[in-house]
Formats: sequence, C-alpha cells, structure tokens
Amino acid sequence: MIRVGHGYDLHRLELLAPAGQGKPFVLGGIFIEHDRGPVGHSDGDALLHAATDAILGALALPDIGQLFPDTDPQWAGKDSSHFLRAALQLMRQQKFQVSNLDATVICERPKIGPVKEQIRAHLAQLLNCDKGQINVKGKTHERVDAVGEGRAIEVHCVALLENA
Ligand code: MG
Repeated sequence: MIRVGHGYDLHRLELLAPAGQGKPFVLGGIFIEHDRGPVGHSDGDALLHAATDAILGALALPDIGQLFPDTDPQWAGKDSSHFLRAALQLMRQQKFQVSNLDATVICERPKIGPVKEQIRAHLAQLLNCDKGQINVKGKTHERVDAVGEGRAIEVHCVALLENA
C-alpha cells in the first residue's frame, strides 16, 4: 500500500532580534546566514514543518498545529526536527516508511542553491532514507507579494509513503 501526503507552511521573515522578531534562519535543520529570520513559536523551520505535515497528511493524522499547538509553552523555540521525528514515529507505528519526499522552497533571499545538498543530506538522515529519495527545490517569487518582497518564506512538500 502507498499513501501520499502534502504539506505547506509559511513563516513571516523579519530582521533578526533585537531589531525585529526574526529568529536565526534555519531551513531543513540547516542554519543559513541571513539578516532576516522566521517569526514563529518554535524555531520557525518552514521546511521541517511542511515535511512533518506531508507525512502526517499521508497517514490522515491530525496536523502539526493540532499535535503541537503554538499556544503550548513547551514548544517555544523548539528544534523542529522534534516534530518531524514525532511524525516519523507515528508513521512507523502504522508500518510505513518514506518512499520519497519532494519539497519546494519559495523565498527571495537567502538563496537556497548553495545549501540545497546539505539540506537534502540532513533530511535523508532524519528520515532514514538515501539522499536520492529526498529532493529540495528553491524558487523565488519574482519580487512580487510578501514572499517576493522578502517578508515571508513558503514551503510546499509532498511525501510518498509505502508499507515498511
Ligand atoms: Mg510553521
């Protein structure tokens, strides 16, 4: 049996604290040097949030916001790999494994290209997959709307699960 899931996330980007509310820019668990960072309750890692929701979605489970509410102080500043690991544990309980995962990151800056391979390798490690099963694509928003003006980052993610 196979199951497909889709995940989407958006975080506002602001100047790093204390100038703004931006947290250090972390994407797919990898730190990227940038003058802005995501505003969020956890570490604001939009890629890990979208990947978590893709896996939860494939399993028809409650989404990341339901499992880890942003009103709960225990998730404040949390490393988002925690949420992905929790989703993977639920996946294994249902005897599934990740067949492949494909993500599209949309932001004007920073450029994703230079860290893409590092992100893929890190995701492969988290998901216990080969790097060849994980894909990350970077796009801009052509300078229009909040994403194109550098005020937000958006991630779409699709995951295919198969029986373990
Ligand atoms: Mg999020």
